Amino acid sequence: GARSDQAVVRTACPYCGVGCGVLATPDGKGGARVTGDPGHPSNFGRLCSKGAALGETLDLEGRLLHPLIGGRRSGWDEAIGLVAEKFDEAIRLHGPDSVAIYASGQLLTEDYYVANKLMKGFIGSANIDTNSRLCMASSVAGHRRAFGADIVPGTYEDLEEADLVVLVGSNLAWCHPVLFQRLSAAKEARPGLTVVNIDPRHTATSELADLELCLRPGSDVALFNGLLNAIEADGAIDADYVATHVAGLPEALGSARRMTPAEVARLTGLTEDELARFYSLWVRNERVVTVYSQGVNQSSAGTDKVNAILNCHLATGRIGRPGAGPFSVTGQPNAMGGREVGGLANMLACHLEIEDDAHRAVVQAFWHSPRICAGPGLKAVDLFRACADGRIKALWIMSTNPAVSLPEADSVRAAIAACPFVVVSDIMAETDTTAVADVVLPAAGWGEKSGTVTNSERRISRQRAFLAPPGEARPDWKIVCDVARRMGWGDAFAYESPAAILREHAALSGVAAGLGRGFDISGLAGLTDDAYEALTPVQWPISAAAAGGRFFATGGFYHPDGLARMIAVEQGPEATPCTAALPLRLNTGRVRDHWHTMTRTAKSPRLSRHMAEPFVEMHPEDAAAAGIAPAGLALVESPHGRLVARAVVTKRTRRGNVFVPMHWTAQWASRGRAGALVRAVTDPVSGQPDLKASAVRVSPF
Ligand code: SF4
Repeated sequence: GARSDQAVVRTACPYCGVGCGVLATPDGKGGARVTGDPGHPSNFGRLCSKGAALGETLDLEGRLLHPLIGGRRSGWDEAIGLVAEKFDEAIRLHGPDSVAIYASGQLLTEDYYVANKLMKGFIGSANIDTNSRLCMASSVAGHRRAFGADIVPGTYEDLEEADLVVLVGSNLAWCHPVLFQRLSAAKEARPGLTVVNIDPRHTATSELADLELCLRPGSDVALFNGLLNAIEADGAIDADYVATHVAGLPEALGSARRMTPAEVARLTGLTEDELARFYSLWVRNERVVTVYSQGVNQSSAGTDKVNAILNCHLATGRIGRPGAGPFSVTGQPNAMGGREVGGLANMLACHLEIEDDAHRAVVQAFWHSPRICAGPGLKAVDLFRACADGRIKALWIMSTNPAVSLPEADSVRAAIAACPFVVVSDIMAETDTTAVADVVLPAAGWGEKSGTVTNSERRISRQRAFLAPPGEARPDWKIVCDVARRMGWGDAFAYESPAAILREHAALSGVAAGLGRGFDISGLAGLTDDAYEALTPVQWPISAAAAGGRFFATGGFYHPDGLARMIAVEQGPEATPCTAALPLRLNTGRVRDHWHTMTRTAKSPRLSRHMAEPFVEMHPEDAAAAGIAPAGLALVESPHGRLVARAVVTKRTRRGNVFVPMHWTAQWASRGRAGALVRAVTDPVSGQPDLKASAVRVSPF
């Protein structure tokens, strides 16, 4: 039946961190035509294949339409009552740290804000982590070490204005396609713009590269320490900039000096000639942007890799200037918004510091809350371990599918099943995670709810509803507030709209800015409901004193002394070395036309045509050694799980490595879950799992 009918609605794509604006025109029959928004300053009307097919993903097949308790349909009142009762009971018997929330970069900022407020300020535990831990946690940690705050300094325009763009661990062509389109267009208009692609795999992104460095996986710290060494050797350190704005140069150089070209060549597998070309390009071009993504972040040394990159920009003062700076591109539509509200277990709202007693007291006073978490909580991998060993008695999973996406996914699924009480709020009825839940709550999806998201360049865009939620589905913020009210905290969760939540978040950011934090959207605190409806995309900081644009144009870092920090980092050994029994290194990642666990993209026939099934990409010599024929079925095994998929035999993947896409779930390919193979080893600083370096063996199936 007709869900709604209205004129064109300006909203934002629900997929990647590029955060494109889209125009949706509902057809009055539950569908909509979706095109790029020419007025959105992040995409100027462009869309990628996934965004362009959004209109094909709106049908209700597979949607969760009613609350379920133990698989039986229930009313909202009963379901909310049970969730509140079980959380209350666990807190009463075992304390606040016996409950947890696992949230998602798919949530809107307003959803995220209230979930974080409930957990940290009212339940009084920081056991709220999110799938952003799998995505950006190493960048967050690297930014905080270097800048004193989690700030992405640049904007997308910087890529277009640069003379050299270095892509590290990023298949931008497939994973941030519209940003790749912008970069391609800039290079076409100005062929002098040089692109270097650093990735163990030859990917679609390589096509744009003037220089491709297929380095040994995990050797990025050696490569960038070698670059810092080359910068010093060439006299390219900006001594004035460093003297005014940077601490830690001697220590960082101390580590880097050991990285002679011969040593870097040995560690990275690149030739000295390749290294010399890269280093010379970097040293010669003032306007250099280093874009990095999951190949850097999803690593047991992710934070050190981030800081090795930031060190080079700080040593040369190439940061905060047009066309110059490090640039972390976020994977998810609202990974940045989640960081802003403090949606990670080691963060507090509005970039305030969770370890800082004064900051926690300020947040508690602002929220008028009965308590505040005592310090950081459990990060994703540890959170599910705590479910497995019985420490977590009640768990709420929002808008994500950890039984597929976490490393050692089979163990995670068992841990969730073992937790005494599990509630999952989701838009889909049957996922690997809803299958092991006690209570399942129907959430409103994209196009059915309203709020804001923040993209990779700090730009806040509205998502607007253009369809009525199906069945009894409700927006996530409302579900959280319903539970909070039932737990007795009605006054603090009496919001009538997402606009009211954003106003409070913005006001708190003003308090944080007063304490010297950089995340400032206080200019939105007085937004009327009408102004919220009409909000056009805007970059933070947004306050009377500061507006949009770039950070660190004149220093102004967020450590107490105002200086940035260069961090002495060392190339370490592999966390999971290959062995005779497990001779191949498993890399996981995305394909062009699917998103996460395919709940939406699998609905589009044209998206499913690009890659119809999971696959194992392997080098011809490895395939021959394992007895695998091209397009033959391969069994991939690790100590944690197994996967069966068709072999794609190609030199795109280095010898000794295999690549498997991350998207397929038990629903689509019962033996195609990549997460089941991955070892749950994490970065010691960020807690981000290494999703790109597990040891496996491959044999014919
Ligand atoms: Fe959506 Fe990202 Fe594609 Fe833009 S680039 S349309 S945000 S998936």
